[in-house]
Amino acid sequence: MQILDGKALALQIKEEIANEVRQLRAKGMRAPHLAAVIVGTDGASQTYVANKEKSSHEVGFTSSVYRMAESTTEEQLLETIQFLNNDEEIDGFIVQLPLPKHINEQKVINAISPDKDVDGFTPINIGRMVLGEEAFVPATPMGICTLLQRYGVPTSGQHCVVLGRSNIVGTPVANLLSRKGVDCTVTLCHSRTKNLPELTRQADILVAAIGKPKFVTSDMVKEGVTIIDVGIHRIPDDTKKNGYSIIGDVDHANVDKHCSAVTPVPGGVGPLTIVSLLQNTLKAYKKKL
Ligand code: NAP
Repeated sequence: MQILDGKALALQIKEEIANEVRQLRAKGMRAPHLAAVIVGTDGASQTYVANKEKSSHEVGFTSSVYRMAESTTEEQLLETIQFLNNDEEIDGFIVQLPLPKHINEQKVINAISPDKDVDGFTPINIGRMVLGEEAFVPATPMGICTLLQRYGVPTSGQHCVVLGRSNIVGTPVANLLSRKGVDCTVTLCHSRTKNLPELTRQADILVAAIGKPKFVTSDMVKEGVTIIDVGIHRIPDDTKKNGYSIIGDVDHANVDKHCSAVTPVPGGVGPLTIVSLLQNTLKAYKKKL
């Protein structure tokens, strides 16, 4: 069984990005600039933004974080987005989700300039992606494709079953894996899918993005499957200094022995998500050259 080590691959790709940034700087050009907006004090969101900031610095990017209070109004947030859209020195930015309940998330996403939408969440970028045009592709699905490609997992003609149809993971990954050149045959499952284990047992590649800890059990997979576990869950763990462990959507202790390849949690898809964001930011920067 092969571990699809996202952490190691992310380090390698970060080094590639850092090299490119060094070459740009050597020519006297400014560093690419990634900004993040975070509203409120949600612990997981703070951790995600801190990781994005750290990774930006590691590759030589300029990074800035706009921290806004939980009580921020939709109008104030939209003003900040306009400011970031217009700032020539900022190449790309993300708005960390989820937003507080009183803010309309889609309205906020729609306000982001498609040219700076390095999360690939705006309708324009999603439309371009679906049409196979040049686009910023959402970071997690892009990271999944990078993992499969760089580890040489065969995709052409393979049956890929995707669990979950969210706009940020399941739906775009199903689209990317079924496009020409990748050529999987994709089945997209959701909470209304009937006979789920029957379908998952047919998967050559199983992408679990369902948001339920240890949902995928050994009776749901066939021998030799490749599993991409997207789930991230913090569960209390007294043996850990920080008091919690991170687990995924797959019951790895029982499932991994049946796999030909599998992403661990943590250290699988997560690091590739951040790397994809960096790649998109570099692309946004280079588009302006
Ligand atoms: P989400 O928006 O909650 O979507 C979950 C999807 O799973 C929905 O489409 C839902 O179906 C489906 N579902 C729920 N219960 C089901 C069941 N019993 N049987 C079949 N389908 C079921 O989740 P998400 O944002 O895509 O995130 C999924 C997981 O990935 C979460 O754990 C999240 O933390 C993690 N995540 C990780 C990364 C990373 O970088 N590693 C990035 C993003 C998200 P319906 O549509 O019918 O409700």
